[in-house]
Amino acid sequence: MRLCDLHMHSTQSDGTLTPRQLVELAKTKNLEAIAVTDHDTLAGIEEARTAGAELGIRVLSGVEISVEYNSRTVHMLGYCFDRGAARLKKGLDEILGGRHERNLKIVSKLNALGVKVTYEEIAAEAGGKVVGRPHFAAVIVRKGYAADKQEVFNKYLARGAAAYEERLRFSPEDSVAMIRDAGGVAVLAHPKLVHLAEGETIEDVVKGLKSAGLGGIECVYSLHTPEETAHYLDLAKKYDLVPTGGSDFHGGNKPEIEMGTGLGSLAVPLEFADDLERLAESAA
Ligand code: AMP
Ligand code: FE
Ligand code: FE
Ligand code: ZN
Repeated sequence: MRLCDLHMHSTQSDGTLTPRQLVELAKTKNLEAIAVTDHDTLAGIEEARTAGAELGIRVLSGVEISVEYNSRTVHMLGYCFDRGAARLKKGLDEILGGRHERNLKIVSKLNALGVKVTYEEIAAEAGGKVVGRPHFAAVIVRKGYAADKQEVFNKYLARGAAAYEERLRFSPEDSVAMIRDAGGVAVLAHPKLVHLAEGETIEDVVKGLKSAGLGGIECVYSLHTPEETAHYLDLAKKYDLVPTGGSDFHGGNKPEIEMGTGLGSLAVPLEFADDLERLAESAA
């Protein structure tokens, strides 16, 4: 079977490998195509593309955006936006600005709680443009305020915890519009991880997002069981959405997940990448 992996993060967001290293790893894993889907930034794509051209790996443009859907966060992937991404970039810059403001508020709250960290330390931990809560967690553990990252989230960073702060999120409609304006396809990421409201089903969410312009569902994912994958593939068919798949590889920040194979048995058919590209072309 010819394989791809359409969901992974580089050092430009919260992964630990550079875009080039992602492509090099994909090569050793016999993946024919990958998409680098950093949170809120396109900064890793060009480096990955250059490395992909050298090593013979197809690199699709990608991004992962957290959107506000009925007062919850849903992750949306964008793919194959190659038409000129000015509006998408502007939107992502606004999200990054909101992230920065949120991060400064978290630092203040942490300091007030006796956790002495500075924004500079967190930014240095992040290295790239996107500074996120996992970087806070790493610094806080290193400075001895908690035993591990999960404890940091539980005590300080999780929604509802002592140093939690909201950040700017766009609606699904706006997020889809940004992606489609750039010639791309919007895909619901890891449906298993969507927090459903009381009585709501994932089909309700898919239906709602479809009317906002959704183009695909990430049916194959590291944490999906075969039954879940089959259900999401059925939904993709029913709502005329392309199925996609990926590991959500983060390098050392999620060491249990491997590129390509996820927790061990993941396999994403290369046709998923072909179908995405075809859909983007036909919509352009
Ligand atoms: P941010 O985008 O900066 O808000 O950070 C989001 C990331 O933090 C997610 O992708 C997860 O990796 C991590 N995260 C969020 N909530 C939790 C939680 N309750 N426990 C552990 N990790 C979490
Ligand atoms: Fe992440
Ligand atoms: Fe995600
Ligand atoms: Zn991801």
